[in-house]
Amino acid sequence: MKRNAMRAIPSVDALLKELDNTTLPRAALVVLIRRELASVRTAREPLTRQQIAERISTSVGALCRARIEPVINATGVLIHTNLGRSPLGSEVVKTISAVASNYNNLEYDLTGGQRGGRAAYLEHNLAVLCGAESATVVNNGAAALVLILRHFVTPARPRVIISRGELIQIGGGFRIPEILEAAGAELCEVGTTNKTTLIDYSRAISKQTAMVLKVHRSNFFMSGFVDSPATEEIAALAKKMKMLFVEDLGSGATMPTEAFAGLEHEPTPSETLRRGVDLVCFSGDKMLGGPQAGIIAGKRKMIDQLKRNPLFRALRCDKLILAGLQATVDLHLAMQSDPTRSADSGLLIVEMLKTSTAALRLRAEAIVAALADLPLSATIGSGQSRMGGGALPRSSMESVTVDLKPITPLDAFAARLRSASPPVIGYVSGNRFKLDLRTVFPRQDAELIAALRRAAEKSQAGSLCHEIP
Ligand SMILES: *Cc1c(COP(=O)(O)O)cnc(C)c1O
Repeated sequence: MKRNAMRAIPSVDALLKELDNTTLPRAALVVLIRRELASVRTAREPLTRQQIAERISTSVGALCRARIEPVINATGVLIHTNLGRSPLGSEVVKTISAVASNYNNLEYDLTGGQRGGRAAYLEHNLAVLCGAESATVVNNGAAALVLILRHFVTPARPRVIISRGELIQIGGGFRIPEILEAAGAELCEVGTTNKTTLIDYSRAISKQTAMVLKVHRSNFFMSGFVDSPATEEIAALAKKMKMLFVEDLGSGATMPTEAFAGLEHEPTPSETLRRGVDLVCFSGDKMLGGPQAGIIAGKRKMIDQLKRNPLFRALRCDKLILAGLQATVDLHLAMQSDPTRSADSGLLIVEMLKTSTAALRLRAEAIVAALADLPLSATIGSGQSRMGGGALPRSSMESVTVDLKPITPLDAFAARLRSASPPVIGYVSGNRFKLDLRTVFPRQDAELIAALRRAAEKSQAGSLCHEIP
């Protein structure tokens, strides 16, 4: 590099001074600046002082926006895996907060004053909610399936029978065949993509079979020339052949989803177990609406065995998760004993499902009115909310949207809203930027209006890295 270009490279200190409007830790900034300056030094074309400053401010901005912070989800997707899946209600958060900031009886028996079991209360109530003999919890749905496979698959019985119609991939990096392989199981595919019969299953069963596995298709559905045997039929076959029968329910709704407008029925853990499945597993942070967890429910003997497996210790949940799940399960049990109650369930997923379009419309009117003086067109529109999280891919719910047509291009407007405080995530449809109000909590409306006002105003100086509230 030429000498004069070298001279244009500012010092780390000088650049740090210019970044005094960020809230990043200084040590993190220094490393970032050094890294950028190193790449500037080796760049083919020398950069101007201004270009260097811009590059650094871009990467500081990118780092800031990678911090986990609350966002406003206006996508209409209730369980949005990219946006943290289920949000937790205030009662659940209160329980977590109290347990987090104090000592607690995590493994202490308050009756006998000695070392006690872990999560006995949660496991008892979870079993009740799932209509199961017994239940337990690990870190996530994938861990639940891996534990089940690792425990029941043995060198003598390595095979897991699964229909070709259920060899799914969900989200990023979770593919059933790969999970099976990682767990040391030998995949034994039966049937075809669209049709699997009971005879396919029975022909595949041998002395080497560890279990029959059924997997919820989650994020897609098939229609037309499709068929698969009823769960009861597979269960009867598995029982006759003395074979374990496991079902990965994926989202695992414990409530009657068909009670909500627009939703189909989703098989619950309790009805699945009643049909003769030995063990079910599902996620805690999908339709259950709790923190990230993997729930396993079913036969007591098998749950006890799983809990004694050394892998269980490696996959166990933290006290905060257990506390949050405990509160979540109790809210579901309260709702079950009084299903018609119109009161606040304490479960945000349920509250979002219950919200009427009339209530959403009232809020949309207020939001549109609050934007009236801005240089953008804001109107009330309609949309379809979806469950997300791989649950009920066929169902959608009527929703109400705020439709915006700003003077800036839509993608630039969307980017501006993503860097607002709090960030707002909506979607583009037609030539409008749409905000689905079903997934925006009413308490967020004021913040949403403020963010929209700032984004619509032309020059938005703003700080490079805002405080996280
Ligand atoms: C979501 C899902 C999983 C994975 O659960 P995580 O809690 O994300 O680990 C496994 N199986 C099915 C069918 C799913 O839908």
